[in-house]
Amino acid sequence: RARRDGAPAAQPGVATTGDTSQPVVRIRGLRKSFGDLEVLHGIDLDVHAGEHVVLFGPSGSGKSTVLRSINLLEEPNSGSVCVDGVEYGPGLPGEKGSGKPAKRGKPIELRRKVGMVFQQFNLFPHLTALENVALPLRSVKGMKADDANRKAAESLRQVGLLQRAAHYPGQLSGGQQQRVAIARALSQDPKVMLFDEPTSALDPELVGEVLRVMHELAEAGMTMVVVTHELGFAREIGDLNVFMDAGVVVETGSSELFDHPTDPRCQDFMRAVR
Ligand code: ADP
Ligand code: MG
Repeated sequence: RARRDGAPAAQPGVATTGDTSQPVVRIRGLRKSFGDLEVLHGIDLDVHAGEHVVLFGPSGSGKSTVLRSINLLEEPNSGSVCVDGVEYGPGLPGEKGSGKPAKRGKPIELRRKVGMVFQQFNLFPHLTALENVALPLRSVKGMKADDANRKAAESLRQVGLLQRAAHYPGQLSGGQQQRVAIARALSQDPKVMLFDEPTSALDPELVGEVLRVMHELAEAGMTMVVVTHELGFAREIGDLNVFMDAGVVVETGSSELFDHPTDPRCQDFMRAVR
């Protein structure tokens, strides 16, 4: 897969690599409020198959809310979120009553297509690594126990933890627990994986093993959206790097963004995290 560095944006104002294929995730005019406070002021973003999109920016800028809107953990106030060609969200302003049939996907179907990995690993402490991965295969995918266990083992192998399959979360390091959480998301064969600061809760010496697994996934062609402060990692995998501040996309680019940010807010942020 060729990188499309420097390709012109297909649409002005849309964060995209410029790939013209149908995006796996297409966000248009996404607005989100909590109470009276609007925290996303209209986000436009395309994520194409095999692309690795990095979201970065100050705390509170809305990165998590964008990710959570992609799998409807947050319901957009307006705008459209399209995953794998199916429309979710309330639609764009003016779209209602336009005569277009309101054909919208169901959240449960969406969540099967979108794997999510959080800062906190959210593993069940009373289940082994294998059981943690196998459980949603049975409950969400409706697989039989044997098939679920086989699939779970395969996913644990992918993150290098097959030999820890029978361990409980309490017997694993934070890095290993996060790798189990990655295996759990991966086992659903998602169209896209979302990572929300997956290494932020880890002791520094455990960050590398998680980034290595994510790097392997990226190399294998997984479509990924990653919120991270690990800008070295972002530089390695980011096909499209998106700097957010105060609920808007301020600046986007390939890795050259990290060397030559043009917006002062992005420059300030980069100075602060270095
Ligand atoms: P980031 O991930 O970039 O740190 P968030 O998306 O978590 O930012 O938050 C964006 C803004 O929305 C912040 O001001 C945050 O306080 C606010 N916010 C996020 N979730 C909620 C919520 N459930 N209720 C109220 N405010 C929220
Ligand atoms: Mg966040």
